[in-house]
Amino acid sequence: MKIFISADIEGVTGVTHWDETEKTKSDHREFAHQMTLEVKAACEGAIDAGVDEIWIKDAHDTARNIDHNLLPRNTKLIRGWSGHLYSMVQGLDETFDALIFIGYHSAGGTDSNPLAHTMNTGIDSIKLNGEYISEFLLHSYIAGQLDVPVVFLSGDLGLCNEVKKVNNNITTVPVKEGIGNATINIHPQLALDLIRDGVKKSLKGNIDLCHIELPNEFELDIRYRDHTMALRRSAYPNTEQIAPKIVRFRTNNYMEVLRAIEFLL
Ligand SMILES: [Zn+2]
Repeated sequence: MKIFISADIEGVTGVTHWDETEKTKSDHREFAHQMTLEVKAACEGAIDAGVDEIWIKDAHDTARNIDHNLLPRNTKLIRGWSGHLYSMVQGLDETFDALIFIGYHSAGGTDSNPLAHTMNTGIDSIKLNGEYISEFLLHSYIAGQLDVPVVFLSGDLGLCNEVKKVNNNITTVPVKEGIGNATINIHPQLALDLIRDGVKKSLKGNIDLCHIELPNEFELDIRYRDHTMALRRSAYPNTEQIAPKIVRFRTNNYMEVLRAIEFLL
């Protein structure tokens, strides 16, 4: 069995402030270590469930946060950004048996994580078919297209609630809850136990129930922080400025949604 893990940091236990997420800040080290340990716990749960090959995408900011030396030997770590449209699941293809998300966070436009955002902190939010869309859902649709089931996610409670609405069979472990600029966190070592057990349970369960259905049509609304960006980006094909700070892009091809996100943010 071969699985793919995509790891972010804003949904890792404890992480509360941007300084804790930026490699150049001294606060980053401690939380990048916890990110590594949460990925390691997921790997251990997967190996217990019979997985023999694990690919991991370090998917936060520089994509150079995870310490590979602390992970099991049957892992490959993807560092940096190739520019591929699959972005936070770059490297995923139909040969994988399951996709797992670690350290994921609430979408831009929501208030359940002090660091809530979608893809780029320079924009306010992204809606897909009228709903704020998270990085989890954007990348789960890629897995859906490739027919790779999404079996597990750890992150903040707000996102875990969203995951359950997308597919109730996905196992979730909420490690924190956001309130304004604050977070309430479970103990970092308890998080590791819950992630290890949750990943094992999810992979031993009926993963065929964890497929993600894609909509047939996509209406993508991007809300910028600055109205001048909306006017400039409205020159993209099939895109119109529908409000001072919002552009709308329509397609029935999900790859075009990913391309628009790459070039409109
Ligand atoms: Zn991130």
